[in-house]
Amino acid sequence: MQEFYNETFLNAQKQLDHVAQLMNLDAGVHERLRYPRKALIVSVPIKLDNGQTKVFSGYRVQHDQTLGPTKGGIRFHHEVNLGEVAALAMWMTWKCALLNLPYGGAKGGVCCFPEEMSVNEMERLARRYTTEILSMIGPEKDIPAPDMYTNENTMAWIMDTYSNFIGYAVPGVVTGKPVSVGGSLGRKEATGRGVAHTVKMALEKLQLGKDEPTAAVQGFGNVGSITAKYLHQQGIRVVAVSDVQGGVYSAKGLDIPRLLSYVAERGTVVGFDDLDTIENKDVLELEVDILVPAALANVITEHNADRIKCKILAEGANGPVTPEADLILQNKGIFIIPGILANAGGVVVSYFEWVQDIQHLFWSEEQVNEKLGYLMGRAFEEVYQVSTNKKVDNRTAAMMIGVGRVASAKMLRGLYP
Ligand code: NAD
Repeated sequence: MQEFYNETFLNAQKQLDHVAQLMNLDAGVHERLRYPRKALIVSVPIKLDNGQTKVFSGYRVQHDQTLGPTKGGIRFHHEVNLGEVAALAMWMTWKCALLNLPYGGAKGGVCCFPEEMSVNEMERLARRYTTEILSMIGPEKDIPAPDMYTNENTMAWIMDTYSNFIGYAVPGVVTGKPVSVGGSLGRKEATGRGVAHTVKMALEKLQLGKDEPTAAVQGFGNVGSITAKYLHQQGIRVVAVSDVQGGVYSAKGLDIPRLLSYVAERGTVVGFDDLDTIENKDVLELEVDILVPAALANVITEHNADRIKCKILAEGANGPVTPEADLILQNKGIFIIPGILANAGGVVVSYFEWVQDIQHLFWSEEQVNEKLGYLMGRAFEEVYQVSTNKKVDNRTAAMMIGVGRVASAKMLRGLYP
């Protein structure tokens, strides 16, 4: 199964191997969970605006289907490859199980440079990619959602393409859609809202919330910007944020509501209020109480982990900390809220959206947010209890819960044939 091997996939496997050993996991179940169940590589040819035809590589990987259909985002990015998608699919399995959602994990993506593409090219790419992976997806099979450089528009195109093939509207084939085509209120904000909720709980546990805590956020897209918005609303002083073009810093704290309007107009945080600029890598090393990496994987490695000075690290992104860096951060006493917990708000409200689509019965935003708060709070407490009782770090505790739930269902179902 070496097809999947790259740094990110091997990191995901290493994390699984670690908890499998601690839990004394059944060897057969462990072996089955180390690899995705199904993976598809497709060519995605589209006509560019200049009339030329270009072929992109697309992927969809389903890691595990023990607890239900698979669920996971679609990413358009130039670093997308089979190993990365497989690792992200595996993390989705643990995340869904940790939150007690009836799903397994999946992920998809197309290797491309979205910043260099027009909206029309993106639409053609999304539609052709959907056509190529059509046999794998469906409301009972595998339900995509947005991830890096995809958004509600992308989900509307996927839903439309799929529905055209089936012959009637199938809103439940994707989540993270616009509300007018069957999306859920509160979905767009759910991941960032969830990150901020887990930070609030961590501050309470560590009794750090009394003075005005400080925060830095790397990545200012869906997850980073909404996290910053809610941290700010919680009275936390957000001193630095960054995006792919660079970052801004103010010791007095950034005016996040005005920054959000600025970014909506300009598409970047750079230039806001003529503030001091800060490089992306330096955002991670600031002396702040809370650090939220909310962009790419593998940004904290054994090379910079020593210089990370936060007290709480909330993983908005998937896989921002390598296993080697994880050990260094733990030894420094940093309280890590692992991605499978911190950024789970997105898949929680995606689940609510899917349930609403299936029932054709829609909830108020208050209902959505209240249920989200309940599920995130419950998962946080469970992780905290396991971590305290078993004397393991939060990531190990979260994975022990997630892997444990999938493994016990696998044992009960047995191995076919
Ligand atoms: P997005 O496309 O909305 O935003 C990505 C942000 O990262 C942008 O601000 C971009 O400028 C920035 N960025 C890109 N390359 C960068 C670099 N090299 N350095 C610094 N910043 C960079 O994506 P998103 O949906 O916010 O996803 C961000 C992360 O959160 C990803 O790891 C994703 O897997 C994870 N995540 C997303 C969701 C969701 O609901 N969207 C849910 C769970 C986890």
